Amino acid sequence: MEKKSALKTYWSSLEKREKIIFLFFLFILTCSFFYLIFFPQIHLKGKQEIKLNYQESYKEPGYSAEFLGKDLSSKIHVKNSVDINHLGTYQIEYSLRTFPFYTKTVRKVTVGDYEKPVLTLKGSETARVCPNQEYQEEGYEVTDNYDKDLKDQVKVKKEKDKITYTVTDSSKNKTTITRHLKYEDVEKPELTLKGSQTMSLEVGQTYKEPGYQAIDNCNGNLTDKVTVEGSVNTSKAGTYELHYKIKDESGNETTATRKVQVYAKSYVSSGCGYGGDIYLTFDDGPGAGTSKILDVLKEEGVKATFFVTASGSDALIKRAYQEGHTIALHTASHNYAKIYSSVDNYFADLKVVSDRVKRITGVESKYIRFPGGSSNTISRNYHLGIMTALTNEVLNRGYKYFDWNIDSNDAGACASKNPTASCVYEHVTKYLSKSRCNMVLMHDVKNYTADALRDIIRYGKENGYTFKEKN
Ligand code: ZN
Repeated sequence: MEKKSALKTYWSSLEKREKIIFLFFLFILTCSFFYLIFFPQIHLKGKQEIKLNYQESYKEPGYSAEFLGKDLSSKIHVKNSVDINHLGTYQIEYSLRTFPFYTKTVRKVTVGDYEKPVLTLKGSETARVCPNQEYQEEGYEVTDNYDKDLKDQVKVKKEKDKITYTVTDSSKNKTTITRHLKYEDVEKPELTLKGSQTMSLEVGQTYKEPGYQAIDNCNGNLTDKVTVEGSVNTSKAGTYELHYKIKDESGNETTATRKVQVYAKSYVSSGCGYGGDIYLTFDDGPGAGTSKILDVLKEEGVKATFFVTASGSDALIKRAYQEGHTIALHTASHNYAKIYSSVDNYFADLKVVSDRVKRITGVESKYIRFPGGSSNTISRNYHLGIMTALTNEVLNRGYKYFDWNIDSNDAGACASKNPTASCVYEHVTKYLSKSRCNMVLMHDVKNYTADALRDIIRYGKENGYTFKEKN
């Protein structure tokens, strides 16, 4: 029996028409096979679908094509219609024409707004609120990469201890931030003392409280609730302290202290209280005699007080200070018409010399001497009653003023009639007294005063006087 294969049997069983159809399909199948194997293909690198943020520039990930071992990448034509300034979906077409083939592929690019709006709080993320108050919104800012102005879109939700701010842009990107509220008052009230914190009075004067003010961040004006402890006994010399205290509703407490110094009358007017003491004071300098005076004081081991003005050299003031002498204030201008025209004008002038001394010595001087003394009568010509006003006000501002009880006359009679060292010497030694303190007025702007100084000091030492320095 002849053995026939199954295929042959099948083939012979077909009719002619069926054979044609069979062969036709076989042909198509073969063509497709070769087409797939040998047709040029475009290969895209990166993703087939790309998402781009609004206005983010498109970076081509690359592409290639090869046909029968030949690189055709350079022949690929790219048509890019992506518009990064408008939201939407775009196609990039890659086509390759190499006879007889034509092939094409696309990449999808979607330009969208994928960024959340940015919400920023003004003020603190944790806001302190006074326990008795409502939180006052401090505001917020919102920016978005795509939507211009979203400020009106911000939804503010207020709860007991927090505020939630939410904003959604047109592409549904949502941002939420929270501000926490802390109901507490940790700030102390502000307590301000009017007048000076250190006041001076003479025995017998009345202490008048210059006043105070207390303001609290949560409780407002608390001046009425300030308590003052302590008292000033103006009949007795001494240092008194007044303690001011204020507490707000949350228990935050502020205290302040005012020192009131009550001086014996004799001390203020003469600056010293013991019999046989000599205080040497030099006014109006530094000047012509200062350098020599400093030499003599150094050699004799005596300390003095210099009531300086705006004139003379800084170096001499510095030297006097460094050698242990007291630098005190005499006014800057020494111009009666100016300084005694009003209280304000006096203090404006005093500030100039005070600033000068502070600049040179680093220390603020609280010792002053009025040109002409505290009870001079010349000042009346410029402002009646000015000395009474000034002597009170300088004490209020914490100054001590010093007059004198021995005038060396180096700017008086000696200067006009007999400008010699011996004239100055006579005027001082003649009035020295053991039964009181001796406050000697001299002027270091005079050369002959410098010349008289050594003999005056020697006289004092030999006759049992004690040279004292200011305290
Ligand atoms: Zn003077």
